[in-house]
Amino acid sequence: MRSEKPMGLATEKPSQDKALIFEIKGNSLDDGPGIRTVVFFKGCPLSCFWCHNPESMNARIELSYDRKECIGCDSCIDVCDKGSLRRDDPSFITRSSCTLCMKCVEVCPGGALSQVGRYLSVEEVLKKIVVDLPFFTTSGGGVTLSGGEPTLYMPYISNLMRQLRHMGVSTLIETCGLFNLETFMELCYPVCDLIYFDIKLLDAQEHKKFCGATNDMILKNFIQLSRTCAEEKKHLLPRVPLIPGITATERNLTAIASFLRETGHEKVELLPYNPLWSEKLEKIGSRRTLDDHAPMKTWMDRDDLNRCRAMFSGFEII
Ligand code: SF4
Ligand code: SF4
Repeated sequence: MRSEKPMGLATEKPSQDKALIFEIKGNSLDDGPGIRTVVFFKGCPLSCFWCHNPESMNARIELSYDRKECIGCDSCIDVCDKGSLRRDDPSFITRSSCTLCMKCVEVCPGGALSQVGRYLSVEEVLKKIVVDLPFFTTSGGGVTLSGGEPTLYMPYISNLMRQLRHMGVSTLIETCGLFNLETFMELCYPVCDLIYFDIKLLDAQEHKKFCGATNDMILKNFIQLSRTCAEEKKHLLPRVPLIPGITATERNLTAIASFLRETGHEKVELLPYNPLWSEKLEKIGSRRTLDDHAPMKTWMDRDDLNRCRAMFSGFEII
């Protein structure tokens, strides 16, 4: 089947009125209360080693190649005038010469090649979301802004959430916490109903090593937001990704549990590890490999999960 004509072209430049979005997914039961539509923004100030959406990290449009979907018709090779697609290249795409013209995507019959990320206006996003309104009403759901990191686009998401709230739709932001708090409080806080805030590693150096930046601003933002949300009875949920050998250690989880107690939290979401993310790396030409991180190659078993849960005694665990 020929791929759908993209709404935002790869050649389009970023603008204040548009944000780079890589997926809008309806019928989600995993990203907040009820049935939700999730808008995934592309680009993140962190670069977590285990990122479950590696296609979200780069704030640029990318070309994805799924080897398993390729039927070997070579239509893409014929249409690429840059010679960037070659069978003798192990990764198939020579990204250094690719201009992201997306001509190959247009001719690929099975969707093995696809464009990751499109610049969409708020109106275009709302048009896609509006069909899901009946599900929100019946399930107590709404719209979740995820990523990547939605706060990279604060004026845009502020406008989007304001319009959703006018339509009676509940709004939720999932964030890594690395943002300018003043701008967040001015633009985003007043128009979001729920905030899901990731706390990954409490040690600053480990955070820098595995997430690409220290956690000072993240923790400061969390402490301040915890106070404000408690005073104003807004829902702020801390979430901890359980990454074998990295975040899911006794030392880290015990430290996070103490930090959450000190900041007045009684509820936490623990996100179990899913190793399937690594299959996405090859599609976008990432050189990252799990070869030095054997525990990350398998699912977390029930005993490990229970050991992690035990560190949060007294908490309501989601
Ligand atoms: S996007 Fe354009 S330049 Fe890049 S591989 Fe496809 S056809 Fe070639
Ligand atoms: S056009 Fe698509 S299916 Fe055909 S060779 Fe290229 S990637 Fe494979």
